[in-house]
Amino acid sequence: MNTVAPTNNDFLLSIEKLTVSFDGFKAVNDLNLYVDENEIHVIIGPNGAGKTTVLDLICGRTRATEGSIRFRDKELTEMKEHEIVRQGVGRKFQNPSIYEDLTVFENLEISFPRGRDVFGALTFRRDDEVVERVREISRMVFLEKLLDKQAALLSHGQKQWLEIGMLLIQDPELLMLDEPVAGMSVSERVQTAELLNKITEGRSVMVVEHDMKFVEDIAHRVTVLHQGKILSEGSMAKVQADPKVIDVYLGH
Ligand code: ADP
Ligand code: MG
Repeated sequence: MNTVAPTNNDFLLSIEKLTVSFDGFKAVNDLNLYVDENEIHVIIGPNGAGKTTVLDLICGRTRATEGSIRFRDKELTEMKEHEIVRQGVGRKFQNPSIYEDLTVFENLEISFPRGRDVFGALTFRRDDEVVERVREISRMVFLEKLLDKQAALLSHGQKQWLEIGMLLIQDPELLMLDEPVAGMSVSERVQTAELLNKITEGRSVMVVEHDMKFVEDIAHRVTVLHQGKILSEGSMAKVQADPKVIDVYLGH
């Protein structure tokens, strides 16, 4: 695979000339995309545009056919999924993957990064540090009063927040969320926007979303994808006013 010579070292994430071909169909086609430190970068675009595939490529679930994905000074395209997680990249999928039969507390606790002791066994103590961190994260994701509740009994929105909390407790530098407010109530959407605006100190967030009100509330920068390529990019106001974007996406 080609690795492109570094050109933009100031970005947290630099995607250059990225292509993935599924049996000749280019779901992502020669894409350049950059994410700044502390930036909330939203990807929008019609169904099938390649949005989820971009996140799949970054987290190593899908292998690039060509191009480069640099996270700080590391090339991610050759790494395995767990290695990419270890670099500080967290990914939330469209459906929440939480442990339904565990409590909110336990779900957050098991997501706390664990070390290995001298014998190689996983060490996992419910010590003060873990408890304090679980409480802090639970406050952030609006679940501090529900720590003892079984996860299965949470609302759809609360389950989404719990999964965001499970990622946050690992303190990723780049957090990727695929349609985080789908199926949420209006008030849950407002709270989720608040949450994302709170967590960007010391981290960047990439979000795929269709809800334009939500995008407006969070986006520092928007990339509009269409047929695996960038149709438009810039502030929300700029892309919203772009006739090309209105034509293929917003006008529908
Ligand atoms: P979006 O998230 O923007 O709706 P996707 O990234 O899921 O779009 O898909 C982009 C295109 O790539 C779609 O046409 C989809 O069918 C195709 N695609 C995605 N993943 C695969 C795969 N693993 N194999 C074949 N085609 C795929
Ligand atoms: Mg998708």
